[in-house]
Amino acid sequence: MSETLAPPPKAAPKVGFVSLGCPKALTDSELILTQLSAEGYQTSKTFAGADLVIVNTCGFIDDAVRESLDTIGEALAENGKVIVTGCLGAREGEGGGNLVRQMHPSVLAVTGPHATHEVMSAVHEHLPKPHDPFVDLVPPQGIKLTPRHYAYLKISEGCNHRCTFCIIPSMRGDLVSRPIGDVLTEARKLFEAGVKELLVVSQDTSAYGVDVKYRTGFWDGKPVKTRMFDLVRSLGELAKGYGAWVRLHYVYPYPHVDDIIPLMAEGLCLPYLDVPLQHSHPDVLRRMKRPASGERNLERIARWRELCPEIVVRSTFIAGFPGETEAEFDHLLEFLREARIDRAGCFAYSPVPGATANALPDAVPDALREERRARFMAVAENVSSDKLQQRVGATMQVLVDAAPGMGKKGGVGRSYADAPEIDGVVRLLPPEKISKTLKVGEFTKARVVAAQGHDLLAVPI
Ligand code: SF4
Repeated sequence: MSETLAPPPKAAPKVGFVSLGCPKALTDSELILTQLSAEGYQTSKTFAGADLVIVNTCGFIDDAVRESLDTIGEALAENGKVIVTGCLGAREGEGGGNLVRQMHPSVLAVTGPHATHEVMSAVHEHLPKPHDPFVDLVPPQGIKLTPRHYAYLKISEGCNHRCTFCIIPSMRGDLVSRPIGDVLTEARKLFEAGVKELLVVSQDTSAYGVDVKYRTGFWDGKPVKTRMFDLVRSLGELAKGYGAWVRLHYVYPYPHVDDIIPLMAEGLCLPYLDVPLQHSHPDVLRRMKRPASGERNLERIARWRELCPEIVVRSTFIAGFPGETEAEFDHLLEFLREARIDRAGCFAYSPVPGATANALPDAVPDALREERRARFMAVAENVSSDKLQQRVGATMQVLVDAAPGMGKKGGVGRSYADAPEIDGVVRLLPPEKISKTLKVGEFTKARVVAAQGHDLLAVPI
C-alpha cells in the first residue's frame, strides 16, 4: 500500500525585535509586533536565531542615541538584516543626510516614529510573509475594478472645505491623508502588476498632507514629506522606471499647484490637470464657499500654459446655482472662452438633500438651469473642438484600451489629454505598417488625421 506524505509545514519566519525609548516608542513597538503576529511572523529572543531584526530607536539624549546606534551595530554583526525605526530614524546627520544610514550604511531600511505601515512594507520586502491560504488568493495590488493597465490611487479621504452644494464632508469627515509611504508602496505594487496609467484621486488632491502638517514620512528608507509636490515627484520618478503615466485629478488651484507644472514639463507626470472650478464669478464662488480664490483663475491658467504649453485643463462647472444672475452666467461663458478649458463638463444645479445651498434665496427655475447648461456646453464644445482640431497632423503617444485581433483593424486608445471614462478617446485606424500590432495596455505612437466631436482619429505608426 502506498501512502502520500504531505510536505512538512514550513517554519514561520522569525523577527528579532528590540524596543528602546519612551512609552510612545513602546506603543509603536506594540503596533508593529501585533501586525507581525497577525501576519504569522514569529519573534526570536536572539539576534542570531532571527531571519531579520527590527530596532525601534530613541533619539532624545546623547546616551539614548549611543545606545540605539550600538544596538543597531550589534544586530548587524550578529544577524546582518536590520530594519531601523523610531525617533533616531528621523534624525539628520552631518550635511543633512540620514544619521542612521551615515553610521550604519548596511541597514535594510530606516523609518521615523509611528510608521507601522512603512516598517511592515520593509519587512515584506526583505522577509516575505508566511503563506496564508485565505488571504493569499488576493493579488498584491488588491482587487481592482479597472482594466489591468490603469488604476486609481486614493491619497486621502474627506475634505476640510464646506462648499454649500456638497455633503461629502458631512458623510466622510475632514481630510485624512494616507501616509505617503503607504501611497507610494501601493503605487509600486500597481506598477509591478502591469498598471501603465495611475490616476491620483481624492476629494482635494492639492490639500494632501495639510491634516498632518506635511509630516515627514518614509519610503524606501528615505524621508519624504506628506505634501502634494513631494508625492507627485516621487510618483513620477517611480512611474518612469515602469514607463507608466501619472495623471492628477481634483486639483484645486491653490498657488502651490504652480510648483507642480514644472514636473509636468519635465515629463514626471502628465501635463493634464483636472481642476473642478464650478464657476468663475466671484459672487457665485462666495455663495458656493469654494476653496482657493477664484478671481485669479484666469491668470493662474495662463501662467500654467506659459510654464507648460501642452497642458490640458479639464474642469466641471455648475449652471443655475441659487441666485445666479444672467450677468453672472455670462461671466462664466466669457471665462470659458478666455481660459480655453480643453475639457469642460457642466451640471445644471441640483439640490442635494442636506446641502446648505438649498437654503439660499433666489433659486433659479429648473428650466432655466437646464437652458444655461445647454448654452454652456455649446460654448465648451466649440472651444474643445477648436483645440482638438489643432492636433491634426501631430504625433501622439497613445495608450491602447481596446485592440481586437491585435489591432489589425484598428482599436481605441487615449492620449495624455484623455482621462478614462470622462474625456474623449483616440480612435485608432489600422496601423500603417502591416507588421505592426496593437496590444491593450501598451503604448503606440499615432499620427492624428482628424478630429471628430470629443475624439481624435489617428493612424498608429
Ligand atoms: S465640493 Fe467642496 S466640500 Fe465637497 S469635497 Fe469638494 S472641496 Fe470638499
